Amino acid sequence: ANNRETLGFQTEVKQLLQLMIHSLYSNREIFLRELISNASDACDKLRFEALNNATLFEDDTELKIRISFDAEAKTLTIADNGIGMNREDAIQNLGTIAKSGTREFFSRLSGDQQQDANLIGQFGVGFYSSFIVADKVTVYSRRAGEKADQGVLWTCDMTDEASGQFTVEVVDKATRGTEITLHLRDDAAEGPDGLLSGYKLRSLIRKYSDHILQPIVMQKEVWDEEAKAQKPTDEDETVNQASALWARSKSAIEDGEYVEFYKHVSHDYSEPLTWSHARVEGRSEYTQLLYIPSHAPFDLFDRNSRHGVKLYVKRVFIMDDAEQLLPTYLRFVRGIVDSNDLPLNVSREILQESKDIEAIRSGSTKRILAMLEDLAENQPEKFTTFWREFGRVLKEGIGEDFANRERIAALLRFASTHNDTPEENVSLADYIKRMKEGQDKIYYVTADTFNAAKNSPHLEVFRKKGIEVLLLSERVDEWVVGNLPEFDGKQLVSVARGGLDLGALEDEEEKQAQEKEAGEFKDFTEKVARSLGERVKEVRITHRLTDSPACLVADAHDIGGNLARMLKAAGQ
Ligand code: ADP
Ligand code: MG
Repeated sequence: ANNRETLGFQTEVKQLLQLMIHSLYSNREIFLRELISNASDACDKLRFEALNNATLFEDDTELKIRISFDAEAKTLTIADNGIGMNREDAIQNLGTIAKSGTREFFSRLSGDQQQDANLIGQFGVGFYSSFIVADKVTVYSRRAGEKADQGVLWTCDMTDEASGQFTVEVVDKATRGTEITLHLRDDAAEGPDGLLSGYKLRSLIRKYSDHILQPIVMQKEVWDEEAKAQKPTDEDETVNQASALWARSKSAIEDGEYVEFYKHVSHDYSEPLTWSHARVEGRSEYTQLLYIPSHAPFDLFDRNSRHGVKLYVKRVFIMDDAEQLLPTYLRFVRGIVDSNDLPLNVSREILQESKDIEAIRSGSTKRILAMLEDLAENQPEKFTTFWREFGRVLKEGIGEDFANRERIAALLRFASTHNDTPEENVSLADYIKRMKEGQDKIYYVTADTFNAAKNSPHLEVFRKKGIEVLLLSERVDEWVVGNLPEFDGKQLVSVARGGLDLGALEDEEEKQAQEKEAGEFKDFTEKVARSLGERVKEVRITHRLTDSPACLVADAHDIGGNLARMLKAAGQ
């Protein structure tokens, strides 16, 4: 046909391709996991769309993924009978990147191979990882429900002078779904680790894709005595377990399988910190497999960044990124929830109203908090890692999740004058244990930076008396203390606010001396107040300071100085 068109990749794609080929080569086997994962997604999508339109199955209801190779042509083919693509789909999906966070991703690249490889992994190498092992790739596809003459052939040849381009052509394809053929580079095809071996491919599938729901089939091989080699037969065999990992019983699942599954759902190449797998029965029935990652994704603070929990209903994939499943402050959690109660045709609108989702959300939240409590108590090193990566996000929970506020508060860690280092490792319980005789409040100071907090003149009297003060210097901290009036019955109090009443921490003598001074210096404070005029509410004699002559304090009911600065910066 003469409808062949040559098109250029989006600039970002070209950049990503170059980066990937150069930084991921030592990890080249991942391409197979990515392509199988796409084939599996395509089957999930077909199954989901067919819930409302069974004709999409076209009499072929057995979804599967087929891996085959041709040793002579040096090609490897990954085929599926999933949703498929038409010409426009192929141009859009295989020529551009349309992910949120793309800009952020490119701005974070450092040029350091190890670091960038990690970042690329998190960003999701996806389809383009084919080019780690192949110099030419063809995609032959047809969308389910469309006519046989609406197939597409997409080709990209990196050995071409004009690499950075691809061609698309409308062609015939009798069966729906996608066939991706990789023309392997010699170094990927040959040698002891070469990919053109049934044995090698089977071991990669079992290692990376065992948990894929659809069967991954290959031609069965038998030993050919004459050729002294394995020879393919006409029979198919399923290579993976092809069952939902989370539906199996816990005792039958090895840690390694949990870890591989994590890598699959999270697109993360490092191991998770911990996970929790549970079947919940009762009013609402569901299975959950939830993971705490060991490092933050690059777009953690992007409010639009994807939430990481996938929703299934009775093993059928329903949607990625179901934000109703968890509160926003737990957006770092990855995993799946499989409900037995929701209808298969559930939509995002239905989710918003659903009582079942509410039950899942509160159950999952409790389970995650329990996982974190367990880390804090039994694996403090892992908890430290968790806190470093996600502490700032967890802090948002104090204002967001009223019902669990006390539990979240117990997980918080702060810097304090006890260590006087910026490291956040003091829990409120630690603080309370160290409180002075007669102390009934938890004291904190907020500032823009750790050093400003640490050197705040407001701390002088506390340092003198040996009273610990929490040193808060993150933006979110003001929000935390604003929403946490007390912990374990102890009020949280800013050292920079109101007329500081140290209560039983001061003896009678000190109090009397202060009152006397206030009287003696009355003329002076009035004079200062007059000359400052409108700019201050009041001028007082203070016992807060030991070295500094004066400091600014907010009124007891005013918003904190930091918050005031933030609001001002936001134009309020
Ligand atoms: P992601 O899977 O994260 O979306 P990929 O780069 O892996 O990113 O794939 C890009 C897109 O190409 C997919 O979102 C999908 O729309 C399309 N695609 C890739 N492989 C297939 C396939 N086997 N069948 C149908 N569509 C596919
Ligand atoms: Mg993908």
